[in-house]
Amino acid sequence: MNFTVGFKPLLGDAHSMDNLEKQLICPICLEMFSKPVVILPCQHNLCRKCANDVFQASNPLWQSRGSTTVSSGGRFRCPSCRHEVVLDRHGVYGLQRNLLVENIIDIYKQESSRPLHSKAEQHLMCEEHEEEKINIYCLSCEVPTCSLCKVFGAHKDCEVAPLPTIYKRQKSELSDGIAMLVAGNDRVQAVITQMEEVCQTIEDNSRRQKQLLTQRFESLCAVLEERKAELLQALAREQEQKLQRVRGLIRQYGDHLEASSKLVESAIQSMEEPQMALYLQQAKELINKVGTMSKVELAGRPEPGYESMDQFSVSVEHVAEMLRTIDFQAGASGEEEDEEVPLDGEEGSAGPEEERPDGPEGTGGH
Ligand SMILES: [Zn+2]
Ligand SMILES: [Zn+2]
Ligand SMILES: [Zn+2]
Ligand SMILES: [Zn+2]
Repeated sequence: MNFTVGFKPLLGDAHSMDNLEKQLICPICLEMFSKPVVILPCQHNLCRKCANDVFQASNPLWQSRGSTTVSSGGRFRCPSCRHEVVLDRHGVYGLQRNLLVENIIDIYKQESSRPLHSKAEQHLMCEEHEEEKINIYCLSCEVPTCSLCKVFGAHKDCEVAPLPTIYKRQKSELSDGIAMLVAGNDRVQAVITQMEEVCQTIEDNSRRQKQLLTQRFESLCAVLEERKAELLQALAREQEQKLQRVRGLIRQYGDHLEASSKLVESAIQSMEEPQMALYLQQAKELINKVGTMSKVELAGRPEPGYESMDQFSVSVEHVAEMLRTIDFQAGASGEEEDEEVPLDGEEGSAGPEEERPDGPEGTGGH
């Protein structure tokens, strides 16, 4: 749509303002007339100052108002039409002021210093009929138009309605639309807020799960440490028992060795007895003692392999393998389940939340 815009006041249109400004230019100073403005008998206007300049230029001897040297007021030619202007004794001060032009200049200056013309004064005019205001609405073409267009013009077969009716209708339509959009924006904002809360919850949940994970591994390490201590203790106990037993045997063997050595010593001494009778007094007893000593049943020795501690080795390969396969429980959040924020609170409603990728809670089952 392309409409020419007309303005009710004459001064409103930029184009007419330009034309008007041209009419208000002084032919001497080439600027807008400055007050006071005088009108010459030929109906042309001049600033009084410029009229005086022109007059002085053509009457160099004329001194001033009330001068005694020149009796008449002098004369000069209109710079626009060369018509001769005869002045009285008051010179240019005797020329009539053009109050109409002065007023127009005042209004023009006011008008052009105003930044925008009041919108209420604007009327959209028909492009086809420049004199006609746009005052009806064509329902068929969905454009505003003028009465003449309806009667004779482009819209003569169209259905039209009064401008205010359609104005009210479309204004309420647009304001409904605005309200809907605002409500929609509120919903989007709500979704954003909700998703920001989801981010916060993700951070909280992750922090808690990290703590739990660390606790789980620490307790696992504690189990290992505890079991290690138990096994070391058992090993130490067995070590002590074995050593006690073997050391007991060593003591027994030592005692026997000592007794046997003493017997050997006293037997050798008696062998050196030169007196046959004396020798025979002790010999039988010694022979019996040596015989007994040699027949003493010793307590036995540790069976072969007794020193081995091989039975205290542990096989941890399968446990290590299990440790390596420690993993998250798929699809289950365990004992923390009740604290989870339900992510699918608005199931079925269309919106950005549908683009949210499913978390582990969404894909797995229990
Ligand atoms: Zn001038
Ligand atoms: Zn003139
Ligand atoms: Zn028209
Ligand atoms: Zn139409």
